[in-house]
Amino acid sequence: MFIDLFVPPVLEKHSKDYRTSRLIIMVDLMLICSAAFLGPFFWWIGFEEGAYIMLYTIANALIFLALMYKTADFLLCGNFFSLQSWLVFSALIISSGGTDSPFFMWLLSIPPIAIFYMRSKYSFLWCFLTVATAVLIVIAHSFFGAFPQNIDAVYRPYIVLFNYSALLTLFVLVVKTFKDNYKRVNIKLSKANEQLKRSNSDLERFAFIASHDLKSPLRNIISFLGLFNRRYGAKMEAGPKEYLDIVKSNAMQMQTLIEDILEYSKTNSTTLKEEEIDLNRMIKLIISQLKTNPSYEKAELMIWDLPVVVGDLTRLQQLFQNLIENGLKYNESDFPTVAIKYMEEGENHYFIVEDNGIGIPEEYHERIFKMFERLHTREHYQGTGIGLSICLKNVEEYGGSIQIDSADWRGTQFHIRIPQNRLKAVNKVVHTQKNLIEDPQEVGV
Ligand code: ADP
Repeated sequence: MFIDLFVPPVLEKHSKDYRTSRLIIMVDLMLICSAAFLGPFFWWIGFEEGAYIMLYTIANALIFLALMYKTADFLLCGNFFSLQSWLVFSALIISSGGTDSPFFMWLLSIPPIAIFYMRSKYSFLWCFLTVATAVLIVIAHSFFGAFPQNIDAVYRPYIVLFNYSALLTLFVLVVKTFKDNYKRVNIKLSKANEQLKRSNSDLERFAFIASHDLKSPLRNIISFLGLFNRRYGAKMEAGPKEYLDIVKSNAMQMQTLIEDILEYSKTNSTTLKEEEIDLNRMIKLIISQLKTNPSYEKAELMIWDLPVVVGDLTRLQQLFQNLIENGLKYNESDFPTVAIKYMEEGENHYFIVEDNGIGIPEEYHERIFKMFERLHTREHYQGTGIGLSICLKNVEEYGGSIQIDSADWRGTQFHIRIPQNRLKAVNKVVHTQKNLIEDPQEVGV
């Protein structure tokens, strides 16, 4: 198209800058045409100053075209354009009646162009200058009286009509490009979002399949290592036996990691199931599973009356299992204790999972929710660093939050808040402060 001839050749076609520069050039060409029409018209009606100003406008609009074509510098050209517009409009207004001038409203055209196309701090400077000019003219008018009116009253309505239509066209152009850009950005964003979702679900599927398929050969390795040990262990020397033990402990470690990754991939289903769950029974089941671990022989567990809810059993099981197990695992007390408290807090279910373990220094309270983030080596405490990220993901899926209150060697409290409108309660459990202290059900592990 004709306008494309003036667009700077360095700009990539269809790029955002190309479109913007095209629009500015269009406005500039419109300005040249208007000035070429208005110049002779002003001369004819005796408004000579106006005719000279139009000549100046044409010269500057041509300089602008050349400047844009050569530099493609939006800031430089924007400043030049705004400065010239400001000079031309001020001169026109002052020479044709000040506040009564039919060109007064043209000052309005500077701010939108400066804001939408310059996108820099200079745009605000031009807005300020425009407003200041308008205010100054109004003040000058009221102090020194009317400005010279060089346009015959007969022609004023035609000029006003022309000005309004030109300004309206400009305004429509600005709004249209703004809307187009907004639409384009939205389409781009939703495409990127779609892509991200797809690659995320691919990755999640990959994690599931890889860990699922790795599980059975690893199980075979571990059971054959056990078989080998039973059959030939007694006859083996200390050196090879030690190697074999290292292989077995590594294989076991890998098995835990795979199981945890599999657990994590369970949190990837996008929909939360809705089944009736008695949280009291669910926790007792978790405890009975933990009972099988001899390390937790002396552990004590206390749970307060919990509600029956409609939720996703796997997700809630994962949440409480990880927190309870951590409370017992990261615990050096003679009588490791975990307590699960519950109350309603406004619109939320509020659970507190509290232990008397080794505590978590404050600087790690956020970090430990990241995947594979651990504060201890495997020699000290077994683990993969996935448990808490599963907890957080599940709680966030319900629109809830987890906060930690803990310090080194002072035990840990996990505060979990889940909106009741997302995890609906079937019965109401009301705890007062008093029975929060006195009414726990003690459950031996
Ligand atoms: P894992 O227990 O498998 O290492 P988690 O994600 O469950 O992974 O926990 C991350 C880290 O946070 C743990 O390695 C541990 O250092 C710390 N942590 C978690 N829970 C507790 C707790 N109750 N008390 C002390 N430290 C904890």
